[in-house]
Amino acid sequence: MRIDLHAHTTASDGTTLPSELATEAVAAGVDVVAITDHDTTAGWHEAAEALPAGLSLVRGAELSCRIDDTSIHVLAYLFDPDDAGLQERFAAVRASRDTRGRRMVELLQADGYDVSWDAVAAVATGTIGRPHVAQAMVEAGVIAVREEAFSQDWIGTGGRYWAGKQEMDAVEAVRAVTAAGGVTVFAHPAASKRGEVVDDSAIVALAAAGLTGLEVDHTDHSPEERAHLRGLAADLGLVVTGSSDYHGERKAVRLGEHTTAPDQLAEIVGLATGVPLLGPATALLR
Ligand code: AMP
Ligand code: ZN
Ligand code: FE
Ligand code: FE
Repeated sequence: MRIDLHAHTTASDGTTLPSELATEAVAAGVDVVAITDHDTTAGWHEAAEALPAGLSLVRGAELSCRIDDTSIHVLAYLFDPDDAGLQERFAAVRASRDTRGRRMVELLQADGYDVSWDAVAAVATGTIGRPHVAQAMVEAGVIAVREEAFSQDWIGTGGRYWAGKQEMDAVEAVRAVTAAGGVTVFAHPAASKRGEVVDDSAIVALAAAGLTGLEVDHTDHSPEERAHLRGLAADLGLVVTGSSDYHGERKAVRLGEHTTAPDQLAEIVGLATGVPLLGPATALLR
């Protein structure tokens, strides 16, 4: 069974429609795919509606969080999408993402760059993120390729035209997702190339708050980082996942490029009480 627990759609900064995720997953030889858009559940319904008989779907989200003054991402799976506390937090983060997007555009305009908020909004159909600003910068001829935008010269974290956004406190986020019947996994905990890495002590604190797993096999992790995280997961009794963090055409990684072992998914599914895993894997994992 090929299990990929992290994929974005047009509900955030992916380029695949939620309704197309299933087709792409099947084409990539994936048996279980998770929809994990940034700070939203907007794609869940469409993705579930389009599910073919042979594919299983884990409904989830990737939460913008903060711990020890560092921005991190927490994957949340199978939580109740109608949980008011959680949706309120998501909405607050999305509103802040709009504000900070506009701020970055203003900073660029103040230096004479011809990037408009309309151009950013035109490429975003869901949760707005820096990839949308980066795309508008490319279209305006400010930079040649989107990756350039993420340097300190532009909108990389702490960069010249970067603006921060409101994020959930990571410990509170883990507790809120758990309260909504969901399960949490620390996304790409060692993605050092983004300049946002936390000490192991943060992982220990999150585990104490109820974190279930660590996303170990991720394209941004080196073999050494994976080995370290695997050891830490073993020490703390955490589940280990692997996933592509698929963004369609916005990232080079393929769906199913990294995968999660069935027994690890079984642990996640076994802990969740919010919504069920959809599809045939439900029976196979028991
Ligand atoms: P945001 O959540 O708006 O701060 O934007 C973060 C998103 O930008 C991530 O989910 C990635 O999709 C993308 N991203 C972050 N760092 C990079 C990078 N160095 N190169 C390309 N894309 C990146
Ligand atoms: Zn993203
Ligand atoms: Fe992420
Ligand atoms: Fe992601």
